[in-house]
Amino acid sequence: MKTLVYIVGAGPGDPDLISVKGRRCLRQADVVLHDRLINPTLLGEARSNAVLIDVGKRRGREDERQAQIHRLMIDYAREGKLVCRLKGGDPFVFGRAGEEVEALLSAGIPFEVIPGISSVTAGPAAAGIPLTHRNYTHGFLAIAGSRSADFTSAEWEAARVLIRNGGTVVVLMGLARLDRIVSHLLEAGCPPKLQAAVIAKATWPDQQVWFGTLEKIEAAADAFPALLVFGNVVSFATQWKPSNPSSNTGLK
Ligand code: SAH
Repeated sequence: MKTLVYIVGAGPGDPDLISVKGRRCLRQADVVLHDRLINPTLLGEARSNAVLIDVGKRRGREDERQAQIHRLMIDYAREGKLVCRLKGGDPFVFGRAGEEVEALLSAGIPFEVIPGISSVTAGPAAAGIPLTHRNYTHGFLAIAGSRSADFTSAEWEAARVLIRNGGTVVVLMGLARLDRIVSHLLEAGCPPKLQAAVIAKATWPDQQVWFGTLEKIEAAADAFPALLVFGNVVSFATQWKPSNPSSNTGLK
């Protein structure tokens, strides 16, 4: 059966950081259902007669919005349209794509997931921070810092262990709760001098990066989207300053 829905990772922001396959799908789609924060330049790749719907902008409770996205994907696919569900970063990293897959499975719609470059890896890279490095750490963990994320969870427990031992922890959706997260980690015995960074709008032209330590890290509270990085690898970034990929220096 022909694939009708593609759940595509758009990458972190720079329109060139989508996969070749993802871009092919975007260029062919009849309907593009996209997240709120997709680079307009990338959306410009869609066919001029394609239907573009910003599903991130819809009103209503989050669960209702999610249900509407499922309905749109299914309805358009049943009309025989090629649907590109374009999501920020990688669809399976904090993107609720698992639920979209479940909805498509139960509706019997043939679909495919096209992975994307997640901000989990692209954000630190854009700030000059390697997530792992033989001389610093052999592992990293990505965790949600949003209000619903519970510090008593197994994931936060693992994050504390990793941070105490110099490992790398990337926190998504955590800037609004930066103070809470920092005081929690300090109370839990994480070292006050632990290196920390806040990276906002990674790979966009207006990317911003703040460096500090656990006891002293500040960033514009309204920077969005933003992620936090804790760990020894952050100090690696003091050695160099990567060029922003969106400036496209050197490549034609
Ligand atoms: N699926 C996405 C993540 C969705 S959750 C991915 O793989 O990247 C949304 C969170 O991702 C934001 O709150 C922020 O923490 C992070 N994020 C997404 N794009 C970002 C960017 N360009 N710069 C910094 N953080 C980003």
